[in-house]
Amino acid sequence: MGSGGVRGAPRPAPSPRVRAANDAAVRAGGDFVLYWMFAAHRVRFNFALDHAIARAAALGKALVVLELIRCRYRWASDRVHRFLLEGLDDNAKALGRAGVLHYPFVEESPGEGDGLVRALASRACLVVADDFPAFFFPDWIEGEARACPVLVEQVDGNGLLPMRVAASAYPTAHAFRRFLQKSLRPHLEEFPEADPLDGLDLPRPAALPDAIVRRWPPAPESRLRGDVSGLPLDHAVRPVSLRGGQAAASAAAARFVRERLARYAEDRNEPGREGTSGLSPYLHFGHLSVHEVLAAVALQEGWSPSDVSSRADGSRSGWWGMGASAEAFLDELVTWRELGFNFCAIRSDYDRYDSLPPWARDTLERHAGDPRPRLYSLGELEAGRTHDPLWNAAQRQLVAEGRIHNYVRMLWGKKILEWSASPVEALRAMVELNNRYALDGRDPNSYSGIFWVLGRYDRPWGPERPIFGTVRYMSSDSVARKVRVKDYVSRFAGEGGNPVG
Ligand SMILES: Cc1cc2nc3c(=O)[nH]c(=O)nc-3n(C[C@H](O)[C@H](O)[C@H](O)COP(=O)(O)OP(=O)(O)OC[C@H]3O[C@@H](n4cnc5c(N)ncnc54)[C@H](O)[C@@H]3O)c2cc1C
Repeated sequence: MGSGGVRGAPRPAPSPRVRAANDAAVRAGGDFVLYWMFAAHRVRFNFALDHAIARAAALGKALVVLELIRCRYRWASDRVHRFLLEGLDDNAKALGRAGVLHYPFVEESPGEGDGLVRALASRACLVVADDFPAFFFPDWIEGEARACPVLVEQVDGNGLLPMRVAASAYPTAHAFRRFLQKSLRPHLEEFPEADPLDGLDLPRPAALPDAIVRRWPPAPESRLRGDVSGLPLDHAVRPVSLRGGQAAASAAAARFVRERLARYAEDRNEPGREGTSGLSPYLHFGHLSVHEVLAAVALQEGWSPSDVSSRADGSRSGWWGMGASAEAFLDELVTWRELGFNFCAIRSDYDRYDSLPPWARDTLERHAGDPRPRLYSLGELEAGRTHDPLWNAAQRQLVAEGRIHNYVRMLWGKKILEWSASPVEALRAMVELNNRYALDGRDPNSYSGIFWVLGRYDRPWGPERPIFGTVRYMSSDSVARKVRVKDYVSRFAGEGGNPVG
């Protein structure tokens, strides 16, 4: 495994992770290599950064790293922005120390950043950019790449498996796990550099042209420290106490592996215990790489890639050759997480109701006319004002803390299906609430989880029931029988609105 590579001679990203986003050529006479960092907001374990450094070293050029934060995307809020901006601060410090020019641009009003990528690209040899298969990112990069006069290369650093190694979208976790067990082994040897800036020796960048810096002034330090005041965002979704950024992410991953990994298998379904990693926001914003997490788990378990089994039967345990808890954790972090990236990379309709498997659409359709004993509006759901205390607690945790414990999150979605006028309405409500409030929302995993509620990645379950048909059913009583929810419910009992400052 290891970070490999001789100091001063970084390797480009492995070829399955790299693709050209336009047909333009490299311009060797450009002033610098531009890395447009829009998804992997970190300077550790980052294939795109490695690739940009390797390109700059080969061309004998300086490196410029652009982080352009727009304010016009859907669900842009104080919560999302604060977390994102805290990540820029870590990067500014690390890149500054390494002599790389960091260009943070934070839009103060919608559209201010338009033209910046092109303006920088017109001075660059080439553009290296992230690759992220969901939300507004694919359209954004496609439009920018078309307008850039030099080659734009996208580098996929999302998962252990390069997204484009799989030729189709997998219908179940079991099928995808089998595929991973057959295909992942060589990719476990291809790690990004743990610290590519350490000992970096690239030419120092000259100052950027005045015309560019005057039109798009780099963000002041206060913004990089997370100050969102005055920005045109959804202020009702308030920041949470969890700090964003690579430093906090690495510390959280190390703490989880040291203190809680060993009990993960037992504790992960207990909402009353902090048994899971809490890493999903960091993974979503690219503050943390799955490679860094695997490296920490491997160290703790004394594991190396040669320990994986040659058996590829899709079974949930036994393939990695680690302890039971570590394997349970990696099944979520790798199988389930990358299943969502696989779907989004292949299916541009990943967020559409029609992307559900035919059996799920058929059974939901057959029950579309069933009476709904309880119907709640989006406003009632949002405020956590239903008759069900456990559901209300989940919704209030989402609004207050930007998260819901995974086990309760499944119930949260299933009840929205039961209490909505139609499955399409339920989908709309889940997407709206999840993506507006959840710090880890707007991610391939968001669509995995929400569509799982409606049957994606699942199979028909008997008995056939009203509203659900054969889509898997969950009730608050059955959840309460299986896990201890009393403390959880009382923790969020009195809360409403959006109380965290
Ligand atoms: C209705 C619904 C909506 C969801 N929306 C999101 C979302 O917006 N963003 C999001 O990241 N996850 C979502 N999930 C999946 C899951 O709830 C979270 O990934 C998990 O709770 C995050 O907590 P953790 O980091 O402590 O997870 P851990 O248990 O510590 O797992 C480690 C990592 O594995 C991945 N993971 C864990 N469980 C799942 C899962 N079921 N599916 C896919 N990946 C998983 C996540 O990246 C997670 O950070 C949703 C699930 C449901 C049922």
